[in-house]
Amino acid sequence: MATTEQNRANGRLHLSFEFFPPKSPEMDKQLWETVAELSRWNPDFVSVTYGAGGTTKAPTLEAVRRMIGDAKLHTAAHLTCVDASRDDVHKVVDEFRAAGVRHFVALRGDPSTGIGTAYTPHPDGYANAAELVKGLREISDFEISVSAYPEKHPESADEAADIDMLKRKFDNGATRALTQFFFDNDVYERYMERVVAAGITIPVVPGIMPIQNLTQLKRFAGRCGTSVPSFLDVRFEGLDENPTDRAKVAADVAAEQIEDLQRRGFHEFHLYTMNRAPLVNAVLENLGLSPERRSAA
Ligand code: FAD
Repeated sequence: MATTEQNRANGRLHLSFEFFPPKSPEMDKQLWETVAELSRWNPDFVSVTYGAGGTTKAPTLEAVRRMIGDAKLHTAAHLTCVDASRDDVHKVVDEFRAAGVRHFVALRGDPSTGIGTAYTPHPDGYANAAELVKGLREISDFEISVSAYPEKHPESADEAADIDMLKRKFDNGATRALTQFFFDNDVYERYMERVVAAGITIPVVPGIMPIQNLTQLKRFAGRCGTSVPSFLDVRFEGLDENPTDRAKVAADVAAEQIEDLQRRGFHEFHLYTMNRAPLVNAVLENLGLSPERRSAA
């Protein structure tokens, strides 16, 4: 049976959605419309990003509080430890806990001096995400997701160092990893072979980025160390001035990537929503899913 037909039949695919905290009243409106729209897909959880150095603490906390209280969604709060003492981090954890958070996405964060500059840990802080995971685990029995990098983190010396960091996060109590977005499923499959060989047994969930705008995406991907295969140039060629066809291609590309991963045996996906619903809806519809069947499942 084709994967789309399987999805139609039982919708067994696991989904999570990532949002970022709004920075203006317009973005606030857009976020909550998007959350209302996407919660119809019955995600396993949603997550809200957190500015490195605590720059978005208040809006992240507010968004998380509403997602748990009003939208009744299982919500994970991202948490970074860059430029923060352990005490600072623990205070933030307490605030999130009081808001009902039981799931953190534990991250080091980018250096406040800019991506690509050397990372200097706070003298009384956690040096990396593995240490943060250990600290969280000592506080409570949280669900703890962490990052993973199929194409290695730009700061990692090599692939082995990168896997080693994921192993340390796993050993310290991480319960799931969410990957940086990628477009080459062979790269992810080879990465998963290394993950399994390292004895890491938690789910390492593919992060899927539906492409709103290929030019902007390329700039962002360059900073993240994600390669953008040339087939994407071909697929989006000539569509700069044609938003309708561009959105259709973007939905096809992301759905094809997920279908291919399903054929390879992966059934859990973390979607970077960019706080917009239409493209995510189109991707999931292309996969043969329907909100009604997922709610009933
Ligand atoms: P770690 O897991 O600690 O390290 C990542 C890799 O970098 C490791 O593999 C390690 O080999 C290498 N490394 C780490 N420290 C050093 C060092 N000092 N020297 C050499 N190599 C080193 N950022 C935000 O600000 N807010 C968010 O909400 C956020 N959410 C994210 C969600 C996901 C799913 C992902 C994949 C990333 C997210 N990021 C976010 C980005 C993340 O903060 C950056 O990639 C950051 O640079 C690394 O954080 P980390 O937790 O992955 O680091």
